[in-house]
Amino acid sequence: MRELRRKCSLCGKEAVVYIPYQRRYYCKEHFIEFLVNKVRSTIKRYKLIRSRDKVLVALSGGKDSAVLLDILLKLSSYFNFKLAAVHIDLGIGNFSDESREIVKEQTKRLGVNLVIVAVNEILGIDLTELSRKARRPPCSTCGLVKRYLLNLVALTSGASKLALGHNADDIMAYSFKSFLTQDLRYISKLGAFTESIERLAVGRIRPLYEVYEFETKLYARLLDIPVVKSRCPHFRPNQMEIELKKIINDIEQERPGMKLSFLRKFMRNLKEYPEIKGRIVPCKYCGMISSTGECSFCRITRKVFGKPMGSKVKEYMNKLLKDKILWYS
Ligand code: SF4
Ligand code: ZN
Ligand code: ZN
Repeated sequence: MRELRRKCSLCGKEAVVYIPYQRRYYCKEHFIEFLVNKVRSTIKRYKLIRSRDKVLVALSGGKDSAVLLDILLKLSSYFNFKLAAVHIDLGIGNFSDESREIVKEQTKRLGVNLVIVAVNEILGIDLTELSRKARRPPCSTCGLVKRYLLNLVALTSGASKLALGHNADDIMAYSFKSFLTQDLRYISKLGAFTESIERLAVGRIRPLYEVYEFETKLYARLLDIPVVKSRCPHFRPNQMEIELKKIINDIEQERPGMKLSFLRKFMRNLKEYPEIKGRIVPCKYCGMISSTGECSFCRITRKVFGKPMGSKVKEYMNKLLKDKILWYS
């Protein structure tokens, strides 16, 4: 990112940023307008949202999901969809406490309804304890639990789309990593959306698919969007992803627009990559999506508690969301 004392290419005010792949300088107002328009085009290009959709945004407390919520709210009347947000409180000490407060602030500022689901409340133990008892690494347990709970909240609340905050740099680093490790089955999951599966899974969308990481950072800074400062104690930097992002950014610097061109071609070619095959059947315990008749959440909780907890969590969710049928606004 270059920040120079130059004039905005559109209005002549002082510029805050230069966008190399457009060869344009933007002032604060025009950069914000540019980014909102970029997301609008992405939504249209990949048909991510339809009129009357109910879009549930997964908020982590970080900048990407916060920027996603802000931009989607600005586009909600244009596309005629409703919006709500969800946060999974993992119960990981100060980090989770801070994240919880930040997402409350983010949604309050925008007037968007928020539902918080606390792992501690539904299981009686936090994420760290769950992963220790399940003898699984915290981040893989966390991914499993979050996927299950987000899908459950989306299904229970009647959402038609679940919006995630992955940006262009994330997608490129994941796809290059899949290629380098030859784990090609993972690549088919890296598109801008997944389809819904009736009663089992709500389709996921990635409206920031073509938004560069520096653009979300700048957007959050210019609009003073509150974001979580502390880091999860389980966080371990993935060296390969960091290196790949660096290499990709070096190439982008030499060839501005390379990321956009890659992602668009990648979406066109996505069907060429092998899909994760397997049956899709409801879990016999909780009725949620599974490939073996027992979902991963029921399997892990059965290991830890001696019985699968999916149906109990479903009951909890029904109660939690019962009086919130109209919480999409
Ligand atoms: Fe979850 Fe790992 Fe991220 Fe912590 S670092 S929030 S455990 S995925
Ligand atoms: Zn301007
Ligand atoms: Zn289950």
